[in-house]
Amino acid sequence: MLERQRVVEPCIFCRIVRGELGTEFVDQSDTAVAFHDLQPAAPTHVLVVPRRHLGGLRDLRDPVVAADLLMLVNRVAKDLGLTKGGYRVITNDGPDAGQTVNHLHFHVLGGQKLPEALA
Ligand code: 5GP
Ligand code: ZN
Repeated sequence: MLERQRVVEPCIFCRIVRGELGTEFVDQSDTAVAFHDLQPAAPTHVLVVPRRHLGGLRDLRDPVVAADLLMLVNRVAKDLGLTKGGYRVITNDGPDAGQTVNHLHFHVLGGQKLPEALA
């Protein structure tokens, strides 16, 4: 089943990382890329994604990659002007959280007063 999934339905974010879908990167680093969400939930909605496939936050092991991801979030927020008003960073890990793409990603949301958060 896993093998079939790899062959027939390759991970959409792995394809984006490889440049197969022509998605423009807002920013990138050695281990991560940032690009605009296809269906933005706020005026600015960027996804920060590790180049290497990891299913979700639960699969993150490498502290270098962890730091790199967070620093890319930090840089994108600054460069897109989100630090003035404020912004939110979210990762959904697993079905209870509503994760729909099973490749670790951080949502970076801002550009307006955001609705109240759960946490
Ligand atoms: P999740 O629900 O897993 O936390 O978030 C997945 C996000 O990926 C959604 O906000 C969805 O709009 C975005 N997304 C899904 N497919 C694509 C795509 O092909 N390109 C881009 N740029 N975003 C996508
Ligand atoms: Zn992937």
